[in-house]
Amino acid sequence: MQYDTYLGVRVSPLTYDDILNQVNEMIATNDQATIFAVNPEKIMTARQDDELRHLLNNATFQIPDGVGVLLASKLYNGRVKERVTGVDLSERLLGLANDKGYRVFFYGAKEAVGQKMQARLQERFPNLTIAGYQNGYDDDPDALVDRINESGADMLFVALGSPKQERWINDYRERLNVSVIQGVGGTFDVLAG
Ligand code: UDP
Repeated sequence: MQYDTYLGVRVSPLTYDDILNQVNEMIATNDQATIFAVNPEKIMTARQDDELRHLLNNATFQIPDGVGVLLASKLYNGRVKERVTGVDLSERLLGLANDKGYRVFFYGAKEAVGQKMQARLQERFPNLTIAGYQNGYDDDPDALVDRINESGADMLFVALGSPKQERWINDYRERLNVSVIQGVGGTFDVLAG
């Protein structure tokens, strides 16, 4: 996978379309992609935090979420040309799922937020198959992994805040039979409106 490196943290110099195309292929070949957002705050924290740096660098895609990363790329002649935000990318992935019939699972945020988000998404994406939802506060990880696998989800969106979501994804990705796993921070709150 292609990437730039800023203070030891990888950033994918890819556009939305590049990522969507690659993700589409990975679903077809049953490969797994993990997607984490990188912004200047996370890069600064990761300088002193080996665990966070490894977590971020271990992902398949590190999206440049934050204008600061774009600026750094300009300053240091990097290859990051466009900002890719976690919210926008998840919306595009949901659009892809809606068009292609991929099943999606949501994990995180408060129950009421999760319910509201699902209702809104079902209006926006009428063909979207929501395979399941689990709030981010009363979950048993082993039972949740089983539920996600049994749901037949192709895409999983994890909204537990950072670095909790990155840690969770890294710990459970190998047990999850899911092609695309994105750590999305506060995105469910945004999508709930
Ligand atoms: N959250 C959760 N479980 C937790 C902690 C947080 O589900 O134990 C959710 C919280 O409800 C919110 C999201 O994770 O929906 C975190 O959003 P925030 O904007 O703080 O994350 P950031 O994008 O700043 O990492």
